[in-house]
Amino acid sequence: VWEHSSRGVARDAHCADAPVRHVAPLIDGFGRRHTYLRIAVTDRCNLRCRYCFPSGASDQASASRRDGERAAILSFEEIVRVARVCAGMGISKIRLTGGEPLMRKGLPILVGQIAKIPGIHTVGMTTNGVLLRNHVGALREAGLTHLNISLDSLRSDRFERIALRPGHADVMAGLEEAQAAGFPSLKLNVVVMDGVNDDELIDFVRLTRSSALEVRFIEYMPFADNQWSNAAFMSCGRMQAIIERTVSLEPVLGEGPSPVARRYRVPGWVGTVGFIASMSDHFCGSCNRIRLTADGSLKSCLFHPAEIGLRASLRDGSSDRELEEMIRAAVASKPAHHPPAEELLRMDNRTMIDIGG
Ligand code: SAM
Repeated sequence: VWEHSSRGVARDAHCADAPVRHVAPLIDGFGRRHTYLRIAVTDRCNLRCRYCFPSGASDQASASRRDGERAAILSFEEIVRVARVCAGMGISKIRLTGGEPLMRKGLPILVGQIAKIPGIHTVGMTTNGVLLRNHVGALREAGLTHLNISLDSLRSDRFERIALRPGHADVMAGLEEAQAAGFPSLKLNVVVMDGVNDDELIDFVRLTRSSALEVRFIEYMPFADNQWSNAAFMSCGRMQAIIERTVSLEPVLGEGPSPVARRYRVPGWVGTVGFIASMSDHFCGSCNRIRLTADGSLKSCLFHPAEIGLRASLRDGSSDRELEEMIRAAVASKPAHHPPAEELLRMDNRTMIDIGG
């Protein structure tokens, strides 16, 4: 975990308070309006999940990357500036991700600065939860509204087989703290893999019996180097059929715009169950997201290799207007939808740990 300089913090505060310049919204060539920015605040992670961490990367390699390329990662000041410029273009929702966002020291400071930007209504974070326990209060106080915790097994031995690191008890403790903290939105992300954790579907659903939690089952997505196989893929349709052998599910009505998850509830239970069918029933037609990588590149699509690097411009005195033009160009290049799984496996795209999921 690297230090965040006190000089940086002081300048960040100035940056967060700077006025937002309102300009035309971010609409791509297919008429999709973009209101959601996902920001990877680090490309480092304290887990090695088999489906996410690139199979070729060793701990040694990530350690040298850490030491050699600190300057490659955007500072808080730079992240806040991009967020502020995006707010002026109609972005109202920001989610911090990674790598593991809580590996970045001082994260609540960044949350507080982003939450202050006029026009930003929700600030979320997706975390593996290992370090969450000690940060819940500070994050909530700083203005974090939406918290997603990734957890693929409720069994600690299986957790370790998937994540290749211990930490299950820490995640469970973090989840408990988060439930007590009263986040307006609290979700569990479960990547379901056939033959790996599909026998736990109903155990996860049971968590929604008395807790205002959304458990979201996510289809396993292919990336170069993530050991994806057709055999391990399970569609949301199959997940739902398995769950409905034990309990019935009723649709939750009144979706907001751009729902990525189909949402259900077991009648009478408090929480909800979501299915994210990125592969079998993609929701590209209503996609409203853009992504900023930890090293400052803007991606208009998780699965599209194209990106526009903002880092040099953030550091060479370019104006906000110039940044706006680059962001607009990234959105303009967004494809209508992502290619099928077989093609994704062959694509020279970044890995999830770089892009931030
Ligand atoms: N470290 C944080 C975490 O674990 O939540 C944030 C980054 S992680 C890349 C964001 C999300 O992407 C997690 O919920 C993770 O389970 C999901 N993810 C990673 N690789 C995936 C894959 N191949 N298919 C589906 N979801 C994936």
